[in-house]
Amino acid sequence: MKTLTSSAPSEYAPRLPRQRPARDTGRVLVLNATYEPINVCSVRRAAILLLKEKAEMIERSDSELRSERQVLARPIVIRLRLYVNVPRDSSKRKITRRAVFARDGWACQYCGTRSSLTVDHVIPRSKGGLSTWENIVASCAPCNRRKADRLPAQINMHPRKSPRVPGPHVFITVATQKIPAAWLQWLPAEAA
Ligand SMILES: [Zn+2]
Repeated sequence: MKTLTSSAPSEYAPRLPRQRPARDTGRVLVLNATYEPINVCSVRRAAILLLKEKAEMIERSDSELRSERQVLARPIVIRLRLYVNVPRDSSKRKITRRAVFARDGWACQYCGTRSSLTVDHVIPRSKGGLSTWENIVASCAPCNRRKADRLPAQINMHPRKSPRVPGPHVFITVATQKIPAAWLQWLPAEAA
């Protein structure tokens, strides 16, 4: 049997109580150089960007990240120092049910209900409709069944808002279970 020697508390890294671990989502909101929210990343990724001075701290929590050599306030919101163009093209981002629901305000685009949501092809696939952001809407299961494989005009069921490629904030809201309060001021009002 192995015996572990108990190590004396290190004088270099005194342990401080971690604060409010329950509220830590483990996700960091990433702003572009223009302060536009573009992404969500892990705390670890954010710490690397901060340490490499590729990003600056915008909002921090009271708790700290500790490595052997460094102590860093735990980031909540960071801003990239250089403008990036990459995540801009939302049309290429994967269409998931959650992202469609978030874009459509978690409401059926035919009747407005928020229960038993699924997704509907506005132009049915059987009629050549594509699986694109512009042709997929949130729909409740009853509306989806009622519309079946008919065109909107055939049954007079039209989406309340014509579907579009969502903005980056939609992917931010679906990337985290709960939007931390400190993020809200950086997100468009519709994301909250
Ligand atoms: Zn409905």
